[in-house]
Amino acid sequence: MTVSGSPRQPRVLRLASNATWVNTESLKQLLDAPDMAIWAVDAAQRVMWMNRIGRLWCGKPQREILGRHERDLFPPQADQWCEWEAQVLRTRQPVRHQREVLTLASGQCLEVEIDRVPYWKGAAIVGVIICVHDITDRVRTENTVRLNETRYRTILDEIHDGYFEVDLAGNLVFFNVALSHILGYPANVLYGMNNREYTDAANAKTLYQAFNRVYRTGEPVSVDWQIIRQDGTQRYLTASVALLRDDHNNPIGFRGLARDITETKTAELRLHFMAHHDLLTELPNRTQLMTQLTASLEEARQGHGLLALLFIDLDRFKHVNDTLGHLAGDQLLRGVAERIRQEVRHSDIIARMGGDEFIVVLWPLYQELAATAIAARMIHSLQQPWVMEGHEFRCPASIGIALYPEDGQDATTLLKHADMAMYQAKTTGGNRYALYAPMMSYRSSRYVQLETQLHQALAHHDFRMHYQPQVDSRTGRIIGAEALVRWQHPDGHLVAPHEFISFAEQSGLIVPLGRQVIAEVCRQMGVWQSAGLFLPKIAVNLSASEFQQPDLVDYITKILQESGVPPACFAVEMTESAAMQRMPHTLRVLGDLRTLGVAVALDDFGMGFSSLRYLKDFPITALKIEQSFVRGLVEEPKDRAVIKTLVEFAQYFDIDLIAEGVETPAQLESLQQMGCFYVQGYLFSQPLPADAFDAFARSVGLADTSSP
Ligand code: C2E
Ligand code: MG
Ligand code: MG
Repeated sequence: MTVSGSPRQPRVLRLASNATWVNTESLKQLLDAPDMAIWAVDAAQRVMWMNRIGRLWCGKPQREILGRHERDLFPPQADQWCEWEAQVLRTRQPVRHQREVLTLASGQCLEVEIDRVPYWKGAAIVGVIICVHDITDRVRTENTVRLNETRYRTILDEIHDGYFEVDLAGNLVFFNVALSHILGYPANVLYGMNNREYTDAANAKTLYQAFNRVYRTGEPVSVDWQIIRQDGTQRYLTASVALLRDDHNNPIGFRGLARDITETKTAELRLHFMAHHDLLTELPNRTQLMTQLTASLEEARQGHGLLALLFIDLDRFKHVNDTLGHLAGDQLLRGVAERIRQEVRHSDIIARMGGDEFIVVLWPLYQELAATAIAARMIHSLQQPWVMEGHEFRCPASIGIALYPEDGQDATTLLKHADMAMYQAKTTGGNRYALYAPMMSYRSSRYVQLETQLHQALAHHDFRMHYQPQVDSRTGRIIGAEALVRWQHPDGHLVAPHEFISFAEQSGLIVPLGRQVIAEVCRQMGVWQSAGLFLPKIAVNLSASEFQQPDLVDYITKILQESGVPPACFAVEMTESAAMQRMPHTLRVLGDLRTLGVAVALDDFGMGFSSLRYLKDFPITALKIEQSFVRGLVEEPKDRAVIKTLVEFAQYFDIDLIAEGVETPAQLESLQQMGCFYVQGYLFSQPLPADAFDAFARSVGLADTSSP
């Protein structure tokens, strides 16, 4: 360094000693570094001085070295050195990092790296300083690493299993030839590809879960999944996955060996399918039905849901079989399966019990009425004529319906009761459905009545709004209110939403009802504003089907303009399940509402906890924690954990978090401890009619502090 700077006075040395020159003792130590020989030669390659290691290497005492030619000290090499030394003298520049093998006097060979720099005395160059570093160990390690790499690469490329290394995000960073064959992508395309790109969503999830487990436990995991190759073909793979760590033991990704198991898997699946399906119609058989039905019943039990079981029996199958033969009979059964399939949702179960009996499980079922509606559609579809082998004939069916929980709690009872109802349908003439419970016929007439009454209620504007304050519990200030509808029944009592909202949703009446709610709420906001009561935000609840109305945003825009309510003071609440329906469309509507300036809250959040990761895609401004979590808060650690997660989530995404159903000071305290301060619940106030809300709001100072 001093060479290319000022040749006269090496600044570094001067600074280090705080004197004119560095003291001789430290210089000596420096010169006697254990892995470096240093000496200086004059223009004729005669040694002017040499350090201790140099003397050791050439195996001579000091007196035999000074003034000697380099050739005498390092005979095999020194002849080539004169060229380099001449170059340094000529160019006055150092020559660095030259590698060679140096034979010592002892016969030992060292890998060395040599630097040659000019030797200045004053302004003149009097020779060359030669620094020889022993790098034998380093070179040996480098060679071993290189050799190992080649060895591993060869092994990796010769094995049949696909070896892969992915980073923590699942992007391929290293793999062998076999992997590119297995995945069916050329290596250059494959490099950097994410596993999501060569599989579908469900399989990507399987893989993600496996990686996640490996990451959490540090233990290897084996996983089976399906991939889609570049040419579109699907293959089954199995892989053992382990954690990949860096030198400091930090996880940096995953590695594993993958094998194509398509052939075995296909055979296995076929066997499984045959054991669980009716091969004629390819529908689940009795065994499979019982498994699936039991699982659905368990879900229904946990979620307090409704489920319907339809027992379908063809009225004239024996006749068809006898007159047209078995082949026609088989064809008919396949046709029946197809017609049934067209009447139900993809998620419902259809099974063939053998003979001409079919079972349909409707789950989830939002209304008992839906089961009869679907049965009626099936009856209609099955009574249409069939044409086979030039014959036209009819083969209607009878359907028995049993409902969970009313008509049975377990699969066997429900099947038995549906069978009985089917028998009843058959004995009363066939080509019809019957409900197991005689009560059902009473119930269905009650629903017809309800529908008529709701129509009238809409026409007469019999719906009333109640308002429940939402409070910042740190200050006691009202941050908004939720508008909750009630039905003023002609018989005088006020009907709560749970008695009619789901029916209104089912019958489509929720749309005109929701419009009345929005209009009334905005009108009321206008009234309050004129009276000097400025509520920061009013939220209305919208059902899933309201979001499916193409003119929803236009309607809200119009009403806001007419009533003079600023969009920022208006919010809509939707439940998590509503949000998940027809996602792309719903997301668009939410986006439009946000553009308009309207706030969007996700209601009753926490019931479908798994959707937390979708949530970040929703343009929402607030999350409302489901009441049951608040209820369990004080005793149930799991509920606390959920709320804690939501608090973090809300903070991270900068959205409001409102706890619903806060009834006790203990619940409030827990919520505050966890960092959730916005609350709604009986502890502060029940939902109130407009006048009472006005009085409440004034009593906590809303009118004084917020009016301009
Ligand atoms: P939600 O939107 O979750 O409303 C909160 C419900 O919790 C309200 O019941 C409210 O009265 C009740 N609540 C508030 N604080 C407490 C408390 O401290 N303890 C308990 N146990 N309950 C509390 P409500 O008014 O019976 O409404 C029930 C549901 O009906 C609402 O649940 C909402 O989903 C629906 N709903 C109400 N109004 C409308 C509407 O205008 N349109 C639509 N589509 N749905 C509505
Ligand atoms: Mg709500
Ligand atoms: Mg709620």
